[in-house]
Amino acid sequence: MTGPTLYLPPPVALNGEVAVPSDIQSVVGSLRFDVRARVAEASVTVTLRLEGHAGWPVFDLRQDIDTASFDGAGLPLEALRHHDMGAGHDARMRAVEVDCDAGSRHRLDLRYRLGAPGATGARPVEWLDDGVAWDLWMSDLEPGRYLEMWVPANLCHDQLYIELHVEVAGSSRPHVLLANASVEEVEPGRRWLVSYPPHYTSLSPLLVLVPADQVVVHRQEVAAFGPGGSVTVAALADAGIGVDSAAADATAWLSYFAARYGPWAHGDHFMAVIWGAERGMEYDGATTASPAALEHEVFHSWFGRGVKPARASDGWIDEAMATWATASRRAGGGRYGAERLGLDEPPALLCPPHPWARHTPRESYVAGSRLLAGLADMAGGAAQFRSALADWYRQYKNRAATSEDLERHMSRWCGRDLGPWWGRYVYGRS
Ligand SMILES: [Zn+2]
Repeated sequence: MTGPTLYLPPPVALNGEVAVPSDIQSVVGSLRFDVRARVAEASVTVTLRLEGHAGWPVFDLRQDIDTASFDGAGLPLEALRHHDMGAGHDARMRAVEVDCDAGSRHRLDLRYRLGAPGATGARPVEWLDDGVAWDLWMSDLEPGRYLEMWVPANLCHDQLYIELHVEVAGSSRPHVLLANASVEEVEPGRRWLVSYPPHYTSLSPLLVLVPADQVVVHRQEVAAFGPGGSVTVAALADAGIGVDSAAADATAWLSYFAARYGPWAHGDHFMAVIWGAERGMEYDGATTASPAALEHEVFHSWFGRGVKPARASDGWIDEAMATWATASRRAGGGRYGAERLGLDEPPALLCPPHPWARHTPRESYVAGSRLLAGLADMAGGAAQFRSALADWYRQYKNRAATSEDLERHMSRWCGRDLGPWWGRYVYGRS
């Protein structure tokens, strides 16, 4: 799919060959969960096009591949190895070790069984008594923690069409599949066809699969989304909050953020899956969250998935903004901080410099929020700074933005060149 080619990382020389960024156009496949055998089998077809260079096309998949073919011919697994692109082993990518012409189109077919993804903190498919629980559970904090954990995908700049047939077999329990996608229930409780919108990237899709007796699903119309607009809230058994209460909280925040920062950017629907676990994540117009994190995650539908990071290394922006605008006590300054920031506080590296870097540093929450509190002070206070965020959203909604874009934007709102502040508190220069 077309994407903002501006943010492509450069080709990388590998053993005398050149690995080049590819434009992944579609990822179409089937995932079959055999509960009795406790095996999940994946069969996926990727169509891709080389960008402006000839060489080995790059993608990622953090699963062990069983068989592969490229343009219809069998491919040895050694020809799909991971390589360090210069940003470290954790940020490794696979290259198809076949010389391809610039601009050429190709098809890659892969078969594999879903194991624990090869990425820090990733969780495997959870096999239950006569059932299965599975969640894409992505994270910005570690490389390789987007869609590529489960199916082949690109870096997060690339828009790709994702279509998955999902089947639960060998179980007497009906299951529920939740996704921020068009979901056709092919066989009730057992088989679904999930089609994500073609503007999604590897950090967009939510998918949760659970036994139906483990979840309560509540759907209500929401006027803020226009006629037919709705919110779906699903509460898992351990959520610790009633589904009606969670839906009331979610719709209140949706209304508030829309009023303060600008109109909803994700069609006519919002989805939240609520559970008791600490882990949670933002997706396009959707979230998985604990009740305590719900406000933070709903905010990300504006900042993070409404305005998306252009590169993984721009992901700090969303966490800094979400912390500044929704935190209670966790972060320095708390919610809506406005506090003088000179050039004498400890430097912070929030935007990793390598073009193949793929993570958001953990300092982004506290140090990023501290930076924004400093900007709020320069801009004339917290209310003025919320207007600066609304203006940022208005300009970049449904687009991707870089750390440099934010520097330019905030320099205007703060009435000064923020270069020295970006140097010290974004790029970590002392
Ligand atoms: Zn967040």
